[in-house]
Amino acid sequence: MLEYEIVIIGGGPAGATAAKYLSRAGIKTLLVQRNMSFKKPCGGGIRLDAFSEFEIDTGIIRKYVDTIALVHKDDRVEVDISQTPIGIVDRQSFDAMLRQDAQDAGTTLLEAVFVSLEHFEDHVVSTIKVDEEYIKVRSSYLIGADGVNSKVRKIVNGDRVSSSMTHYADITTKEYGVCEFHFGSEVAERLYAWVFPHAEGSNIGTLAESDQSYLNRLIENLDIDEDIKALGYRIPHYHNTLFYKDRVFFVGDSASQVLPFTYEGIYYAMSSAKILADVIINDEDPKSYEKRWSEKYKNKFTALLILQKIFLRNDFMISLMMRLYHKRYIQEQMVRLWLGKREVKIGIKFFFNVFKQLITR
Ligand SMILES: Cc1cc2nc3c(=O)[nH]c(=O)nc-3n(C[C@H](O)[C@H](O)[C@H](O)COP(=O)(O)OP(=O)(O)OC[C@H]3O[C@@H](n4cnc5c(N)ncnc54)[C@H](O)[C@@H]3O)c2cc1C
Repeated sequence: MLEYEIVIIGGGPAGATAAKYLSRAGIKTLLVQRNMSFKKPCGGGIRLDAFSEFEIDTGIIRKYVDTIALVHKDDRVEVDISQTPIGIVDRQSFDAMLRQDAQDAGTTLLEAVFVSLEHFEDHVVSTIKVDEEYIKVRSSYLIGADGVNSKVRKIVNGDRVSSSMTHYADITTKEYGVCEFHFGSEVAERLYAWVFPHAEGSNIGTLAESDQSYLNRLIENLDIDEDIKALGYRIPHYHNTLFYKDRVFFVGDSASQVLPFTYEGIYYAMSSAKILADVIINDEDPKSYEKRWSEKYKNKFTALLILQKIFLRNDFMISLMMRLYHKRYIQEQMVRLWLGKREVKIGIKFFFNVFKQLITR
């Protein structure tokens, strides 16, 4: 049997970041990744300040975006985000680089699949499959960082991550310089559709559970004339978050830590992983992971969830939202709420100001 202090399942942004910080602190860590060439279906948009915060080489960034566009039918608003621009990465190279950073810090990286888990009073034993061989690994704690289809979560908590289906495609014939969010029931069954500059060409997609007709209408509206291979992958909701249970921590998509409204997950996967690593390094009570995460993010996640429920309800509310977005004050507040580090208080005063904007010219 192999023995480590911490075993992490999943070498995406959450798992690789946790591994890097744990190993740096001298904690014997095993990082288990199913497939080293896996390319996570993703727009690859990451707020730029994440690179200095998590000490990631900016050389991996393929494109920079300093404007986002909000689109509903013929209405379009462009919002300046040059204070906190977005870097676009290719997820295959990005994830590989994060795993390499973890290895450089001392993590053991293994290409293997997590299969099952046994619980004991002061440790857990994971079974992983390497090629055709089953290996048992003993550790004080396990970290489930295995994404939206988390097997660790299913085994430990008996549930699945609450999520929506996305339909997306890479396109090569059109380049977009800004990140566009397209709203409305014509192109998005839920929330929004998107057009992002991608590492190569562009990436388009929509949140739609049922079929591809929403994506087809987006393609039509964008006037894209190209043979498109659409794929599907699930994205978590911020709902039924799970932080810790029976010597197992959860982080990133497996913990449901995706920001509502924008559905930005990479930054929060890495930030949550750093909070978790700190808790383990300082030998704090496992429950303080949820406490520390909540102190930092609960207000922000709740505020964006409330705004998502109010404004992305139907086409009428979306047109009200677009009317608001034309106001500079609202743009500033939304950018602060989304990308700012300081909290925006969503209380009576906030809604009063929003209402005031709505009735003034
Ligand atoms: C279409 C789409 C577009 C998106 N665009 C953006 C965007 O532009 N910006 C943004 O911030 N977020 C975006 N997201 C969300 C973002 O991709 C995720 O929130 C983020 O990748 C979460 O990181 P993670 O490490 O928790 O999980 P993942 O990145 O999913 O990593 C989990 C890893 O675990 C491995 N694994 C799974 N099961 C096992 C197992 N049994 N054994 C071993 N290894 C296993 C997987 O191979 C994978 O490498 C997008 C999501 C989708 C679906």
